[in-house]
Amino acid sequence: MTRVFSGVKPTGHLTLGNYLGALRQWAETDQHRADSLFCVVDLHALTVDHDPARVRRLSRQAATLLLAAGLDPERCTVFVQSHVDEHARLSYLLECVATDGEMRRMIQYKEKSAREQVRGGSVRLSLLTYPALMAADILAYDTDEVPVGEDQTQHVELARDLAVRFNHRYGQTFTVPKATSPKVAARVMNLQDPTSKMGKSDDTGPGIVYLLDEPEAVRKKVMRAVTDSGQDVVHDRAARPGVTNLLEILAACAGGDPEDLAASYSSYGALKKDTAEAVVEVLRPVQERHRELCADPGYLEQVLRAGAEKARTMARPTVDAAYRAIGL
Ligand code: ADP
Repeated sequence: MTRVFSGVKPTGHLTLGNYLGALRQWAETDQHRADSLFCVVDLHALTVDHDPARVRRLSRQAATLLLAAGLDPERCTVFVQSHVDEHARLSYLLECVATDGEMRRMIQYKEKSAREQVRGGSVRLSLLTYPALMAADILAYDTDEVPVGEDQTQHVELARDLAVRFNHRYGQTFTVPKATSPKVAARVMNLQDPTSKMGKSDDTGPGIVYLLDEPEAVRKKVMRAVTDSGQDVVHDRAARPGVTNLLEILAACAGGDPEDLAASYSSYGALKKDTAEAVVEVLRPVQERHRELCADPGYLEQVLRAGAEKARTMARPTVDAAYRAIGL
């Protein structure tokens, strides 16, 4: 059976981008067709300035939202990365296989380190080595497929390269994974700056729809989305990024093809109104389930404990084999 692994970082509140680009696909498709693991990757949240209590709180919230989005612990394994030591153990071996140059070439490293420097802060070494830990997350589970939004495909490519290199140098140890992305809304953009992605850690409130936003807040944000000059509704990511983003969100939430939808609107106002309502409807069941889950915190604890136990059992043989193969 195909093995699927993916994760979400507890660096902020989960966004519509996380949901449409990743969570929804995990819940609606992946957990039904594959042996899948979904993880709150909390070690990754330590790569940038962080507040310990906030990371802990956001980890729980992210885990709750994974379940609220429809992940069923009877069908898939849901756990927290730091509960399973194998991730950190394997990460070090992969740092010994990766090169400094390939880490520095990662777009996300370039962008985030530049941002840290502009803020006058220093760049944590772990921000550079992050892709080795992400590769470990994936390779520890003999993963075949990694369903992610487009922003993460470069990191999955690197995990592939490291698996191939390790196998070549030290003998067949890892399954070589590949990334899969949804056809629509693989890259949801910020509503106030449609040339940059809707990222949860950016903290630019008005351009980001959070999964737990109240309907009124969603409507306000979508209605105030930046659109392009001109009035005709066309799907063109380069020339009309704002309108294209709304069309993609609408298509992902209400169904249909973004290009066909473009033809059925003659004003930005109507497009925004329908997009806002479609987003509200998509978030409604997730928010309802989230409320129910919050009322029973013991259930989450139990799911995460069982998930970590299962994940550990799955990862250990592969990581032990990697230690032996590399000469330890
Ligand atoms: P973030 O960038 O919000 O911190 P994560 O790195 O935790 O997100 O990513 C969790 C999943 O959500 C990944 O599969 C990622 O590709 C996806 N994702 C994040 N932002 C977006 C977006 N704006 N559009 C589509 N998918 C996204």
